[in-house]
Amino acid sequence: MLMLINGERVPASNGKTFDNINPATGKVVCTVPAGTKEDFERAARIAKAAQPAWAAMPFYKRAEILYRYTKLVREHVDEIAEAACAEGGKRIEECHDEVLTLCMVFETFTEAAHHLYGSTIPLKAEARTENDIIFTVHEPLGVLVAITPFNFPIELYAHKVAPALITGNAVISKPASDTPLATGILTGLLIEAGVPGGVMQLVTGSGREIGEWLAETKNVDAVSFTGSTAVGSSLLAGGAKEIRRTFLELGGNDPFVIFPDADLDLAVREAIGGRAHNAGQVCCASKRFIVHKDVKDAFAKKLVDALSSWKLGDPSDPGNDMGPLINEKAAEKAMADIRHTLDQGAVCLLGNRREGAYVWPTVLDRVSPESDVAKDLEIFAAVFPIISFESFDEALRIANQTSFGLASTVMTRDMKTAMKFATSVKAGTCVINGTGDYRSVHQAFGGYKHSGLGREGTSTTLREVTQEKNIAMKDILR
Ligand code: NAP
Repeated sequence: MLMLINGERVPASNGKTFDNINPATGKVVCTVPAGTKEDFERAARIAKAAQPAWAAMPFYKRAEILYRYTKLVREHVDEIAEAACAEGGKRIEECHDEVLTLCMVFETFTEAAHHLYGSTIPLKAEARTENDIIFTVHEPLGVLVAITPFNFPIELYAHKVAPALITGNAVISKPASDTPLATGILTGLLIEAGVPGGVMQLVTGSGREIGEWLAETKNVDAVSFTGSTAVGSSLLAGGAKEIRRTFLELGGNDPFVIFPDADLDLAVREAIGGRAHNAGQVCCASKRFIVHKDVKDAFAKKLVDALSSWKLGDPSDPGNDMGPLINEKAAEKAMADIRHTLDQGAVCLLGNRREGAYVWPTVLDRVSPESDVAKDLEIFAAVFPIISFESFDEALRIANQTSFGLASTVMTRDMKTAMKFATSVKAGTCVINGTGDYRSVHQAFGGYKHSGLGREGTSTTLREVTQEKNIAMKDILR
């Protein structure tokens, strides 16, 4: 594949490439340009020059282009889904769903932007402005760099690119090095739909390289990043000199709390849906199962029974329940995290098995609330650590004892317990009787504490990627 700078498909300026590997087969999917700081800076200069004309284009014309885009994407669903499956090891059905979600996100943001109203300050609110009219309009930020992770390369691209483009910003997309291919196709289609080549660009290359460049450049107005907390923190620091808007969607170690009156079959279904989705590599996956002592053994048994027959294999075969992790290194890391949790006193009921990049669903019982996985150790694989509790306060304390705060779950038939938990848990989302692996396009998705800064969703992002300007008509009423 090639990068897309100024509407042209180009290699890295130094000609260097790296291989993209299919984690299911170990085979090379494509070679990827290893973009340099010079490539990023060139793209940013081009974006700076191109953005004002895009912002000046009538809004309804930008909307027409984005509606044309989703029509084009729908004509290429299979090609994009197959690319995402090969590069990321994600099950083919999930890849299809992700492409259709991208269309919904673009269309919904385009519609929502029609309602990005300014406001009028009440007339005659103060003596010193009583002859004036003050109103506000939203203007774009300028050039936004969108950095996406490997686990939802299509959906998260949509959540960053759609609101930025429709409001008149220019975007430079930097996909994860493990999953650049689908992003390349998606960016090419935006240009085919009519977005100017200087307004939507794609630069591939190492995350470290772009991080160093972002700390130096003056040509970027905003960064929208989804990924790990450590990188998010470094981007925030790197943008400080420029007072750069930095939106961060980061990691999580989300609690899934089961009270004794919960429907255990439902709890097992939701736990599996929320933990094994995308082979366990989801930011808002349920990652700590905090279960009342009276139902803990019954829950653990039902969970093990349900997962024992799971088939792992080629993600392009819809007959398989789960594909591999993103690469073998990630699988080794997950196994090391499992070993570490066992060393801290947990007992393995299922799994703890790896072949290449495949890690089998793993159920760990008797996990101490003092162990790392019960606090800040985010395991990126289908691992179910079970921690028992006796009282509401204890469950809440364990749920909140992490520096993350992305999503959460409470399973109970008693709505008073549910609401008491939902209003006390320190997390950006609480799902009652369902997994926290839950995202509507409209909700203000995001995290408390080290899980992020800012929110994504049609109810909020359009305001984040624009700035509000006051226009005062002085003495107009005199
Ligand atoms: P990561 O290492 O932080 O990588 C994410 C992206 O950042 C990739 O494009 C990566 O490029 C780039 N990057 C790496 N180092 C960088 C640096 N120093 N400066 C700028 N960019 C840099 O994250 P990951 O391990 O792939 O993703 C998993 C993490 O993301 C988990 O913690 C997960 O919970 C979180 N996540 C959060 C959300 C959310 O919405 N809150 C959604 C999905 C994932 P390279 O690939 O080239 O290194």
